[in-house]
Amino acid sequence: MISIELLEELSRARPGRRVAVSRQSAVEADGVSFALLEIAAERKLGISGPDGAAAGFEVEQEHRAGSQVLSLCPLSHANAERLRRIFAHTAPSPLARKAGSAGAPGITFGVGDRLGAAGPGHLRAFRRFAASPVLAQQSVRELTLTDRTFEDVLDASTWATFQEGFRDPWGADADHLKTEDWVRRALAAGYTMITADVSDAIHGEHADRPASEVRSAYARLEAAYRAEVEKRYLSRSFPLEGGKAVRFAEVAFKKTVLVYREAIELAVRLYRAGTGVAAGGGFDFELSIDETATPTTPQAHLFVALEAKHKGVTLASVAPRFPGEFQKAIDYIGTVEDFRASFATHAAIARSLGHRISVHSGSDKFSVFPSIGELARGAFHIKTAGTSWLEALRVIAKGDPGLFRELYARALERCDEARKLYHVTPDLSVLPAPAEVSDEGAARLLDDVNARRLLHITYGEMLCVPLLRESFFRVLQSSLPAYWAALDAHIGRHLSLLGAPERHA
Ligand code: ZN
Repeated sequence: MISIELLEELSRARPGRRVAVSRQSAVEADGVSFALLEIAAERKLGISGPDGAAAGFEVEQEHRAGSQVLSLCPLSHANAERLRRIFAHTAPSPLARKAGSAGAPGITFGVGDRLGAAGPGHLRAFRRFAASPVLAQQSVRELTLTDRTFEDVLDASTWATFQEGFRDPWGADADHLKTEDWVRRALAAGYTMITADVSDAIHGEHADRPASEVRSAYARLEAAYRAEVEKRYLSRSFPLEGGKAVRFAEVAFKKTVLVYREAIELAVRLYRAGTGVAAGGGFDFELSIDETATPTTPQAHLFVALEAKHKGVTLASVAPRFPGEFQKAIDYIGTVEDFRASFATHAAIARSLGHRISVHSGSDKFSVFPSIGELARGAFHIKTAGTSWLEALRVIAKGDPGLFRELYARALERCDEARKLYHVTPDLSVLPAPAEVSDEGAARLLDDVNARRLLHITYGEMLCVPLLRESFFRVLQSSLPAYWAALDAHIGRHLSLLGAPERHA
């Protein structure tokens, strides 16, 4: 424990400043105490012990009391790295292999945090429900739009787990990576999950071609390759549980090969780039084929996964594209029965091949959560991100409606720009003009489907304006307890509907 005398001395040294210790963060190693301190609304790492206790850390100030020294350290990248080396609970680890066995939760749940401020709120939900959090989860697109790095994102998660004293395993997902270089950079930064996005190499155009064209395009592939895959798939049946099976008809098989062949090759290259950095598959490798125009067929899922495995890829999870629409941060659009039929088959394929099923754009898909939990039998991965950003905006709308109106006006102005990067279709014609949004009505906009769509995709456009960014973070910093409480409730609602068991303290 950080000694109270030292804290008192610190308070005296800085009259008028409030010093608070996060008791749950306090940990010891080799007679040295570590805790997160809050000094005048600024968070610091406090290290207390004999002379030299803070060796290896960046220190801003030292306070002495007798033989003890209290060092105040910034929440810097160097200090986060050092902390991860000393305390395992502040470092991420691969989750997929353990998930569902030896008491580890079967559900792994990605909570993207575009602001680096949500972690403590997320962790409070994971204290209540048995699911393993993937705390640091950002795509390159998100990093670019928020002007952050993989290191920034991971460090925010480290400080959150430290602050909350969260002792269960958690993951770090470098999301939607498309190049070998990004895979290497993410793993070098300490990420433990790689989501390979091979959508650019999926040739969906073949799916609509007539049989004659499919046959002739297929015939142009190398003969040895054709012989190999035909032997593996064409006259075979792949049994699933419950007496069902996946079979390949001739033309459909050739289409599948033409559509996915290059994507599999890219997946293999991305995986090998990863094993070159983190040997022995020390990371969870997720294959994402969800960003396509049409739903993934059972045959495509099976073919892609088996071919990747055949080429030595250890697959942790596969994210297919399901029927209906998974638009960001709003409920599922489509027929729940269609979704159930498709999801049940994909989950069964995943089980039969030994990887986990993954659901992307999982924010707020409340109408299908119970089906996901049931049909995946409590063993799956799901990703959310936008919903935590929208909860931050809700906090802003309540705390500073004027600032919210400015952010909203910017979003409306820049919607077309943002839509180039996201497939989201807000209907702006039904939304109020910024001046029509009352102080009391500001937060209610966060419940409107079209406003959610708009505000979800325009985060980069809002945060790239220095004045807006500064005001945004100032208001958010002063409302963190409210933000964390909102996230605890909101992510908790996700976990509860997904069937995550409640933890009993
Ligand atoms: Zn995705």
